[in-house]
Amino acid sequence: MCIFCSIVNKKIPANIVKEDEEFIAFKDINPKAKTHLLVIPKVHSENFQMTEPETIAKVSSFIQALAKEKNIENNYKIQINNGEKAGQEVMHLHFHILSNEAI
Ligand code: 5GP
Ligand code: ZN
Repeated sequence: MCIFCSIVNKKIPANIVKEDEEFIAFKDINPKAKTHLLVIPKVHSENFQMTEPETIAKVSSFIQALAKEKNIENNYKIQINNGEKAGQEVMHLHFHILSNEAI
């Protein structure tokens, strides 16, 4: 089981900030900004390229709601590292949500 699946299954702890049936958002263990969250689908998918467009559409709504709830809706960046050569270290799709505002 991959490390992010272990977070989904609550086998390893994480600072979870939002969760629904399909997605989970938690704080990055090594933040690169004042706020650095990771948003992942609960069902394992290796990377962006290999993920169903339907899932990508749904995660957009999840991220928009998350940003609104945390009052960073006018101040965040999304980063996806797709593939090892692009810097992807954890092979479970994740969206980096970065903001210079604290939540
Ligand atoms: P990548 O380089 O794959 O796009 O990003 C992986 C991210 O996952 C990194 O920013 C890293 O700090 C974070 N990360 C790796 N392992 C853990 C973990 O066990 N818990 C949390 N919360 N973040 C992790
Ligand atoms: Zn996984």
